[in-house]
Formats: sequence, structure tokens, C-alpha cells
Amino acid sequence: MLRFRLFGFPVTVQPLHWLVLALLSGGLLQLNDRETLLYILLFMVAGFLSILIHELGHALTMRRFGCRQVAIVLHGTGGVAISQGGQFSRGQDILVSLAGPVLQATCGIAVLFLMAPGKGTWPPILDLLLLNFVYVSLFWAILNLIPVYPLDGGQILKGALGPRRIQLTLRISIALAVIIGILLYRATSSLLFPMLLGFLAWQNYQMLTHARNQRGW
Ligand SMILES: [Zn+2]
Repeated sequence: MLRFRLFGFPVTVQPLHWLVLALLSGGLLQLNDRETLLYILLFMVAGFLSILIHELGHALTMRRFGCRQVAIVLHGTGGVAISQGGQFSRGQDILVSLAGPVLQATCGIAVLFLMAPGKGTWPPILDLLLLNFVYVSLFWAILNLIPVYPLDGGQILKGALGPRRIQLTLRISIALAVIIGILLYRATSSLLFPMLLGFLAWQNYQMLTHARNQRGW
């Protein structure tokens, strides 16, 4: 398990994080030469950096709102910034959720501008690393902004509707997870995102049932 500190935040990178990044690179099945291995490794480094920046956006905003104990964990399905003892207002909650995808997408767009024709030439290996970084950053940021709880977009929706309308948040999450899952399947023919969104829809349904039984939540 890789552990280090970044801007004072303890960061833990679980082994599964590397494995899932290697799978997402799409190169594992064709791994029979050094070029493919290099491509997979570059994708893993780019994905790791991009997701770390995303979580750093959440963590720095939590600290800005007074939370002193924040840790970052990168795991199999991405990452999480965990705060201990922090109590945020609804508005602060929304800004904390927004900060991750916004910082990540901003870094992705900045690198895209750096790579624009006429801005200098890069060694091919760095070019590939930066290209993967741009791709992961924009894709991950957009995916996380989908208003499906507990993705960042769902957290923003929950903050906007407030605790009294948690059932509405969960219903919207279920509907959007199903619709966007179908649209992504039709657009990409990949089962990966429908499976992820289907899992989130099921999770939201479980929470909705729990909320109904508790008459509130
Ligand atoms: Zn996030």
C-alpha cells in the first residue's frame, strides 16, 4: 500500500486502484509487447495523477471551510476525501462536491492548451502521458457530475434539495442512472458504465426503501 503526504493530507493508494486503472487502460488483453506495457503504465500514472487532483480539490475545500483532519484514499472505484469532525453547511457541502471535478477538469483543459500546436514539441512518451491525463481528467470530471447519488453531482443535488427532500434526490438519482446508463450503452456499446450506473440505481433504491421505512431519514 502506497502512503505519502500531499499538502499536509495523508494519502493512501490501495493496490486495487492500480489494478482497476490497468483494466480501464484497455491494453491488458493485448499485452504482448513493450509498447503496450508502456501504454498501460502511462495510462495508470495519468489516471492516478488525475484522480489525486480530483480528491485534492475536495480536500483543499474542506480545509478552507475549517476542517483540519482530512485524508485522501485512492481505491478501486476512484477515490475519496474523508473529513473527520467537519460540519459543513448545505452551501459548503455543494462547493466541496463541486471542487473535485472543477479542479480536475481545469487541470485537464490547462494541459490540453499546453499541448496545442505551436506550444512546443514534447517527447512522444510525454505526449502520450499528457493526452491520457487530459482524457481521464475530462471524462472523470463529467462522469462525476452526473446527478446520481453518491457521485459528486448527486451530492450537489442532495445539497440543493436539502435533507427534507432526500426521497426526491434518490428518485431523481434512480431515474437518471437508468436513463444515462441506457444512453451510454447505446453510445459506447460498453457494459462498464451501464453496470456502474445500474449498481448506483440499485444502491439508491435500497436507500429509498430504508428512507420510506424510517419515514424520513
Ligand atoms: Zn469527487
